[in-house]
Amino acid sequence: MTGLRCYSALSGQEKAKGLFARALRAGRLPHAYLFRGPDGVGKRLFAIGVAMAINCRAREGERACGRCPSCRKFISGNHPDLVCISPLKGTIRIEQIRLLGGELGYPPLEAAMRVIIVEDTHTMRREAANSLLKTLEEPPPDNLLILTADASRELLPTLMSRCQVLPFAPLERRQAALVLQGHGIAAEEALQLAELAEGSPGRALALKDSGMVPLWREVVDLLDEPRPGSDGEVGAVLRAAEKMAALKENLPTFFGLLRQWLRSRLVEACGAAPPGEERAARKCWSSAELFATLQAISRAEEELARNCGRNLVCEVLLFRLQGARDGYPSGASRA
Ligand SMILES: [Zn+2]
Repeated sequence: MTGLRCYSALSGQEKAKGLFARALRAGRLPHAYLFRGPDGVGKRLFAIGVAMAINCRAREGERACGRCPSCRKFISGNHPDLVCISPLKGTIRIEQIRLLGGELGYPPLEAAMRVIIVEDTHTMRREAANSLLKTLEEPPPDNLLILTADASRELLPTLMSRCQVLPFAPLERRQAALVLQGHGIAAEEALQLAELAEGSPGRALALKDSGMVPLWREVVDLLDEPRPGSDGEVGAVLRAAEKMAALKENLPTFFGLLRQWLRSRLVEACGAAPPGEERAARKCWSSAELFATLQAISRAEEELARNCGRNLVCEVLLFRLQGARDGYPSGASRA
C-alpha cells in the first residue's frame, strides 16, 4: 500500500489511534509496541505514521505537521532513523535480529527517537525470537521498537508481555472499499474486492493484482447455476480447472477464496443471509452439501501440499464440488 500520511489519517483502527495518541500526549511511550491484526489493514503505514508523529518538529497536538524537515524525510521514505526489518523468504532470521542489536549500540543519527519496525514477527523461529527478546529486555534509550504480527498466529508469550499491544482489525466493508477507490478502483469493483478480502485493503489490492477474481467468479457461477449432466458443463469444468492450475503459487489463495465463499453460503443455509444478497436466483445449498464441499477443499489443499499435479488436483476438486452440490452424501467418496 502506498500513500504515507500521519497515523491519524489511516482509515479505521480507531482503538490503536486512541491508545497511541493518549500515550504521546502523556509523554509515556512504551519502549516497544506490538501491532497485532490481520494482513493488509495498515499496520506498517501506522508504524511509519507513529515514527513521523514522534519525531515531528512542529507537531500539532498528537499529529505530525507533514511539512517539517523530519516529516518530509519520512514521507519520502529517506529518514535514516527509520529501520524496517521484513521476512526474508518468509522468515525473520536470527542474523537480521543480531544485525539490529549491533545497530542499536549507536545513537540515532538525527531523530529524537529511532523507530525500528520488525514486520511479521510470527514468522520468527524460536532462536530469532529469543534473540529479539534480549533486545526487548534492555532496549537502549532513544529507540522505539514496533513489532507487527498476525493476530491468528502464535507468538512467544514472553515477547508479547514485553510490548504494549495495539489491536488492529479488518475495516468495515464500505470503509475498505473507499480506501480502494482512493487507489483508482471503480466503486462496484472496490466493494466486491473489499468483501472478498474481508475488509483488508492490502489483501484486496493483492487480489486485484493477482488477476484471479474473474476466475473466482467463473468457478462460483459454475457451482451456483446447476446444469446437471450437460456435456457443456463438463467442458466448462475442465477449462476452469486448467485456468486454476495456471495460478501456480497463488492456488492456495484461490482455494481460500472458495472456502470463504462456501462458508458464507453455509451461514445462509443456517438462516442468516448476508446483507444485500438476493437468494432467489441461486442454488439453495443444504448444510450437508456445504460440509462436503469444505471437505473437498481441504483434500485438495492436502494433495497440493503433497505435490500432486496441479491440473489433476483442480479437476478432481471441481468435480467433487459439483458432486457435493448435486447431493451426493460426500463429494470425497466419488473420486
Ligand atoms: Zn513535522
